[in-house]
Amino acid sequence: MTTIKKLGIRKRIALVAHDHKKADLMEWVAHNREVLSKHELFATGTTGKLIEEKMDRPVRKLMSGPMGGDQQIGAMIANGEIDMMFFFWDPMEAQPHDSDVKALLRLCVLWNIPMACDRATADFLITSPFMHQEYESQLPDYSDYLNRKIKKQDD
Ligand code: PGA
Repeated sequence: MTTIKKLGIRKRIALVAHDHKKADLMEWVAHNREVLSKHELFATGTTGKLIEEKMDRPVRKLMSGPMGGDQQIGAMIANGEIDMMFFFWDPMEAQPHDSDVKALLRLCVLWNIPMACDRATADFLITSPFMHQEYESQLPDYSDYLNRKIKKQDD
């Protein structure tokens, strides 16, 4: 059974950038200020503070990534509270919270969340017509997996 999740016209967008990628994300945010201003923005602590300064508008700031911010965004995704994510992560440097980063990327795929991890994908995503329309996201059906898991415990 497929579950449909309706994304509204106003999207709930998570933004995160690792330290060496913050300048890239800020340049991208400035370039896309007009489109982004139509949506609700969430970000990890430091990224959020920089976006607020750049856009001169409030952003819902979570904890800093290494302090649990990635996990907070992951929990929001699992709760259906985030529609899409722009995550400029650093491919050249290990992070103290690499396990959290991996968990967040996994949850995005698990919940079919549109996600951009680089500038080109971010450009394609932000210029999609779906940014200005409702979108019916089909959630993968994990019921077989969950049923098997329960059955295994009963056996
Ligand atoms: P930050 O967290 O926005 O607080 O820097 C991002 C991260 O490093 O995951």
